[in-house]
Amino acid sequence: MSYPAQIQRLIDSLPTGLWIDGKQTDAIDGNRFDVIDPATGAAFTTVADANGKDAARALDSACGMQREWAATAPRRRSDILRAAFDAVIERADDFALLMTLEMGKALPESRSEVTYGAEFLRWFSEEAVRIQGRYTQSPSGTGRILVTKGPVGPCLAITPWNFPLAMGTRKIGPALAAGCTMIVKPAEDTPLTMLLLAKVFADAGLPPGVLSVLPAASAPPVTEPLLADPRLRKVTFTGSTRVGKILIEQSAHNLLRTSMELGGNAPFVVFDDADLDAAVDGAMAAKMRNGGQACTAANRLIVANAVREEFTAKLTDRIAAMSVGPGYQEGIAVGPLINQKQRNNVARLVDDAVTGGAKIRIGGAAIDGPGFYYQPTVLDEVVPGSSIVTEEIFGPVSAITGFDTEAEAIAAANDTEFGLAAYIYTQGLDRALRVADAIESGMVGINRGVVSDVAAPFGGVKQSGLGSEGGVEGIEEYLDTKYIGLTK
Ligand code: NAD
Repeated sequence: MSYPAQIQRLIDSLPTGLWIDGKQTDAIDGNRFDVIDPATGAAFTTVADANGKDAARALDSACGMQREWAATAPRRRSDILRAAFDAVIERADDFALLMTLEMGKALPESRSEVTYGAEFLRWFSEEAVRIQGRYTQSPSGTGRILVTKGPVGPCLAITPWNFPLAMGTRKIGPALAAGCTMIVKPAEDTPLTMLLLAKVFADAGLPPGVLSVLPAASAPPVTEPLLADPRLRKVTFTGSTRVGKILIEQSAHNLLRTSMELGGNAPFVVFDDADLDAAVDGAMAAKMRNGGQACTAANRLIVANAVREEFTAKLTDRIAAMSVGPGYQEGIAVGPLINQKQRNNVARLVDDAVTGGAKIRIGGAAIDGPGFYYQPTVLDEVVPGSSIVTEEIFGPVSAITGFDTEAEAIAAANDTEFGLAAYIYTQGLDRALRVADAIESGMVGINRGVVSDVAAPFGGVKQSGLGSEGGVEGIEEYLDTKYIGLTK
C-alpha cells in the first residue's frame, strides 16, 4: 500500500540497522525481518535481525565503555539525558507517527506516550546528580560507616511492544543516570522506535557503546548468550509473566540483578457512593487507553450492583461513540490490535465469556478486512472464574461483574495471582484508604483511571513483578551499595 507523503518520508528516514558502537550496522549474518503495520497487516519496512554474534559485539562495546561512563561526571551524564529529552520533544511528531505505524495506537495516544516516555529522560537527568550515600558512626563508637552507591554495570533491557518508547526510556533513563551501559532488545513487533531513540541519543552526545539496540525476530538467540556472559550484571524486563519467569531462571546462573515489570489483571472497583460520571471517565481511561493493551488496563470492572446498570449503560454509550480505524487517520479513537495472534486471543476470551453466560452490551466480534481490528466491547454479568477475568485481555473489552458488600469487592479484587494496578471509585475517604490498604497490588488509583507518573514508583507485587521504575526508587535498581568501614 502507499502511504501519504509525510508517513513515507518518515519511513524512508528511519534507522533500520542494529545500533552498536554509536552507529547503525548490519547484522553479521545479513539477516533482516519485516516490520508490520497492524492497521493494514502488511510490512512497511524491514529491520536488521540480530543473533548471538551481534549480541557479543554489543556486549564488547558496552563493557568497553562501562568504566569510562561510570567515571563520567554525573553532571555530564545528566546533561546528555536532558539533551536527549529535548531532542525527543523536538521530534515528538516523528516519534508519535512512528509508534502509531509500528504499534497501531491512535495518534493522540502516541503523542501522550512521547510526553510520558520523554519525561523519564528529564526525570533521571535530574536524579543523576542526586545519588546519595551516607556516613555514620557505628553504635559501639569504635568505627565509622561509609556507604556509597555505584553503577551495577552493563545491563540488558528487554522491552514489550505496547509502549515502544516509554518502556525503553523508563529503563534507559535510570541506567544511564546511574552510570550503567545498556543493551536494549526491543519487541519484534516494534523495533524502530528504540532505533530512532538511539540515534537521537547519539546526536545528543552520548558516547558510542553506552547504548546499543538489537532488534531480533526471535529473542532467545540474542538474550540467552548475553545472560550467560558473566560480564553482564543486570537484566531489566517488561513483558509477560511467563517470559519474566524464564528470564529469572536464566539470570540465576550469574546471579544477575533483575527488575521485572510483568503482567497485570487490574480490578476497577466502583462503589455505590462513587461519582458515576467520574467513574465512567476513569473506566474509559483505564480500559480503553492503548486499545486496552496496557499492563495497567482495567481487566475486571467490579461494580456495586446498586449502580451497575447505570454505570454499564453510560460506559456502553461512551464506547459506542469511539471510532475504530488506522491510528494515523484523523479522528480515530481506537486503532488495531498489535497482531493476529493477539486478536485471536481477545476473540477467544470474549467467546468463552459469552458461552459461560456473559451478556454482550456492545461489540463482541473481530472486524473483517485488512488489519487486526476488534470491536470495542462491553460484557456484563461476566461469570467469576471465566478466562476473561483470570487472564490479561489486552484488548478493548470491558468485562463487568457485580458485588453487594465491601468485603465481596475486596475478595474479588484480590482473586488473582497478579498485583500490578488497581482502581477504586468512592467518595468516602475512609473507605478509599481502607480498600486501598486491603488490595494486594503495587499501585492503587483512587478516583483516577491512570496511575502512571514519572515521579512515582511503578511496579507490581505477586506475579506482576519485582522492583520499581520511576520515582526516586527507579535509579536504585541500577545502583549497587558498597559499605566502607573505617576505624574511629
Ligand atoms: P512478551 O513477554 O511476549 O515479550 C516481551 C519481550 O520479551 C519482547 O521483547 C520479546 O521479544 C521478549 N521475549 C519473548 N520471549 C523471550 C524469551 N524466551 N527470552 C527473552 N526474551 C523474550 O510480552 P509482550 O506480549 O511483548 O507484552 C505484553 C506483556 O507485557 C503483558 O503481559 C503486559 O502486562 C506486560 N507489560 C507489563 C508492564 C509493566 O510495567 N508491568 C508494562 C507493559 C507491558
